[in-house]
Amino acid sequence: MATIIQALQARLDSVNQRISAACARAGRAPDAVTLIAVSKTFPAQSVRAAAAAGQRHFGENYVQESIGKIAEIAANAPFDGMVWHFIGPIQSNKTRQIAQNFAWVHTIDRDKIARRLAEQREAPLPALNVCIEVNVSGEASKSGVTPQALPALAELVAGLPQLRLRGLMAIPEPTPDEALSRRRFAGLRELRDALNARGHTLDTLSMGMTADMEAAIAEGATLVRIGTAIFGERKPA
Ligand SMILES: *Cc1c(COP(=O)(O)O)cnc(C)c1O
Repeated sequence: MATIIQALQARLDSVNQRISAACARAGRAPDAVTLIAVSKTFPAQSVRAAAAAGQRHFGENYVQESIGKIAEIAANAPFDGMVWHFIGPIQSNKTRQIAQNFAWVHTIDRDKIARRLAEQREAPLPALNVCIEVNVSGEASKSGVTPQALPALAELVAGLPQLRLRGLMAIPEPTPDEALSRRRFAGLRELRDALNARGHTLDTLSMGMTADMEAAIAEGATLVRIGTAIFGERKPA
């Protein structure tokens, strides 16, 4: 375990340095960006090692896999202040487990999912922090609401009990073209600003992964979701 913790510590340090350097270049405070370690496909032991190295925010994509991991970590040598983020596509028959086990959901993209999460986030749990996923690259295959449909969905989500609309999330198409990445992320920021101009109070932009975190931070990311740079390559599913 000690060597696993050291290896993860080194990878986390290097990711945190990338974040600080990107914040410095953008004239942003280093704590303006929170690192979410994306642990999908990695076992509870990897999460525990990252937690031992000081990491507290974790992102998961698959309900079945994550519920087991969250329970195992909570039961066996738990860490204070763990924050679990659901960042995967949401099937409506999985909303109850998501509502009951996560603190954040980044991938709301339709009314039905938002309504179910609100109903199933039962007291005494605090309101669920949520982001709406937006399709900023216009690819037909991508999940996320269109920019045109965003204002109506934001209005609905903001009015639901037990949900707190915190911001927007996007996964632009992978590209080596940094200028294109910047445009996609800037697009998400502009959509957030437009909602705030209509009276919303969104403080979150969930954007940036291993390959494009610098571009996302330059355009205002507040949450970056990093898997590969922390845990290594994932095995193909
Ligand atoms: C897997 C995943 C990530 C992490 O991607 P890396 O390229 O490994 O950093 C981030 N966000 C979402 C939504 C993911 O599914």
